[in-house]
Amino acid sequence: SWAHIPLGPPDAILGITDAFKKDIHPKKMNLGVGAYRDDDGKPYVLNAVRKAEQRIIQDKLDKEYLSITGLPSFTKEAALLAYGKDSEPLQEGLLAITQSISGTGALRVGGVFLNRFYPYHKKIYFPTPTWGNHGAIFRDSGFEIAQYRYFDKSTNGLDFEGFMEDIQSAPKNSIFLLHACAHNPTGVDPTPQQWDQISEVIKERGHLPFFDMAYQGFASGDINRDAYAVRKFVSDGHRIALSQSFAKNMGMYGERVGAFSLITESVKEKAAVDSQLKLVIRPMYSNPPMNGARIVSYVLSDSELHKEWLGEVKIMADRIKLMRKKLKHHLVEDFESKLPWNHITDQIGMFCFTGLKPEQVERLTHDYHVYLTKDGRISISGISSKNVKYLAEAIHQVTK
Ligand code: PMP
Repeated sequence: SWAHIPLGPPDAILGITDAFKKDIHPKKMNLGVGAYRDDDGKPYVLNAVRKAEQRIIQDKLDKEYLSITGLPSFTKEAALLAYGKDSEPLQEGLLAITQSISGTGALRVGGVFLNRFYPYHKKIYFPTPTWGNHGAIFRDSGFEIAQYRYFDKSTNGLDFEGFMEDIQSAPKNSIFLLHACAHNPTGVDPTPQQWDQISEVIKERGHLPFFDMAYQGFASGDINRDAYAVRKFVSDGHRIALSQSFAKNMGMYGERVGAFSLITESVKEKAAVDSQLKLVIRPMYSNPPMNGARIVSYVLSDSELHKEWLGEVKIMADRIKLMRKKLKHHLVEDFESKLPWNHITDQIGMFCFTGLKPEQVERLTHDYHVYLTKDGRISISGISSKNVKYLAEAIHQVTK
């Protein structure tokens, strides 16, 4: 009998979409889910992706199994994208990399690998707050979870001092999970200068930086700029772990394309890590799906498609920036809210951590049919030119 099994709680984010779907109000807004929408509120499949799909059909490729670590042309391009073509460890053949089931799968493969082989601690440090799934992923990988200070509620910005103190005071050789850019859920990133300092202290303490890069390009609209932290850490000599996702920056959500990589110290070490990554993956899912990885590799390896894709990343990032501007403008100028709203435009990436309190969030949903997570996070991509003023008015009404 399974009578002893308690009913599990619904997923905090996916549950919001369910509630949204049931709502029949014409002005309802779903600001819960982190998926890009165009200005008509529609999912957006990138032109570069559509073209790559056409070419794949024309090429009549087979559907044999990929190898355990995935499609080599994909992992090669993914590594170049994250680390840059001038990356020394990349040029020297020191990067162990595997395709993964998007970012979540990359984190999980990395989690299991580190739990099996990281010699110092079975504990990982997360920013407070962090993406809701991090805890479950690393707990299920066998880790104990610890936190470092990150978000400052009083400024809706970065608690840089607290962050630095917590890096200093964590036991040597701790594992630190860092959001490479466009921190989820706060939209608050360190500046390049702050990253430089963070890199230095993490180095001094011998910590292992594990970067989660789920939004490369989404923060600034520029792939290279968003890779600043990752590349700076690598050039400072950190042997980082990295999770990559193509869900957001290539709109590949349901295709589940990502990569996990680790910088090693020697070619021999890389071979050993590669072999062990295979032993982690083989009993989990044998080998990854090919379709999404093929699409991404076609886009990235063709100079024309690559260029078109970069343009589309910028279009998405720019629309998000514009919605931030409009939301703040309506709040301050049209509704004359006296509250500070600068963080709406200071924060970056897909999300804005509004600072709304749980009871205000509840009123937004109940009275205005605006759906968002209880922590006050809104997905900017759910806002459009048509509903931004309605949202501003709703936010003003529940905060005044
Ligand atoms: N990390 C962070 C911080 C995220 O926000 C997300 C997506 N919500 C992911 C990882 C992974 O997403 P996916 O598995 O869809 O790539």
